[in-house]
Amino acid sequence: MFDNKDQSRTSLSELGEFGLINHLTKDFAVKQSSTVKSIGDDAAVIDTKGKQLVISTDLLIEGVHFDLSFMPLKHLGYKSVMVNLSDIYAMNAEATQITVSIAVSNRFPLEALEELYAGIELACAIYNVDLVGGDTTSSTKGLLISVTALGLADADQITGRDGAKDGDLLVVSGDLGASYMGLQILEREKQVHKVNPNSQPDLEPYSYLIERQLKPEARRDIIDLLKKIEIKPTSMIDISDGLSSEIIHLCKNSKTGVRLYEDKIPLDPQMINVCEEFKIDSTTVALSGGEDYELLFTIAQTDYEKIKGNPNFTVIGHITPEGDGMNLITRANTSIPIVARGWNALSNETED
Ligand code: ADP
Ligand code: MG
Repeated sequence: MFDNKDQSRTSLSELGEFGLINHLTKDFAVKQSSTVKSIGDDAAVIDTKGKQLVISTDLLIEGVHFDLSFMPLKHLGYKSVMVNLSDIYAMNAEATQITVSIAVSNRFPLEALEELYAGIELACAIYNVDLVGGDTTSSTKGLLISVTALGLADADQITGRDGAKDGDLLVVSGDLGASYMGLQILEREKQVHKVNPNSQPDLEPYSYLIERQLKPEARRDIIDLLKKIEIKPTSMIDISDGLSSEIIHLCKNSKTGVRLYEDKIPLDPQMINVCEEFKIDSTTVALSGGEDYELLFTIAQTDYEKIKGNPNFTVIGHITPEGDGMNLITRANTSIPIVARGWNALSNETED
């Protein structure tokens, strides 16, 4: 549906491996003072300046993690960086460098990789991170992208999953479930397009959802805001797999229970409308959808005044003793255990 047929195709074999690496990376300028040596040597060199180095990596595989029939390559490059930066911010660290490794089949011309790297470059520019290395290899089929992100933080600022305490408030940034519904829309349009290639979908009513799926933003702004209002969360995690799965990680690592209130979960109006259209429960989507890349964290009750009324934050529950379990308090005021269902369970449910 998005494919642009008017493209020139330069075969990767015309450039050779080093020519390709040089071509793709020549415009990446170094921005971080901690980057001592970047692309071009056997390894990059980072000056940690007495701080702790935070590292996270992700591997994305065509057909498993992304579908190029509706994911433009520029967006894919951008999103590959976002999913990694999100993990660095979830540690309350500043993201400073990335490495990008790709495996490509000869199905991809140079122009396709230029698009991918344009997205990576945009992400690096907006989030002020340096591309300092990577690896380039061939694949027999499809595209693989692995991004590793590095970040720096003062030792006393690092926020793990294990610090939540009984009585802490459970807080989330932004809203949830929109990315999952964006994916449902894109997959539906893909099927329509297969049957009727000339159909022109009107995606305007779904613009926010599609943007959340194709161009997510890692919440660096939330990390900056928390610093500004002088809050250090007691624990934090980013929401990549769905709210319930992340809550369970926080509680298990912190050895606590939780009470999560269904009526407090922040949902965008477009997301609610589309859930009605798909006849799917919006709470289920928020709990199990994933790919929101929002931050979920706990704060001491004494910090409540600092976030009160701030539209970036929603208090969705509170931490309880471990023995009380992890529970969702529904709108009907019944208590049900929180289980990690993930998108697998969700996709089964939508099929019946
Ligand atoms: P080596 O033989 O030591 O693995 P390479 O020839 O693969 O080195 O890489 C040369 C330089 O280019 C290194 O600095 C490496 O980190 C960088 N590099 C390789 N592939 C990529 C890529 N896809 N994106 C960014 N940098 C890359
Ligand atoms: Mg190499």
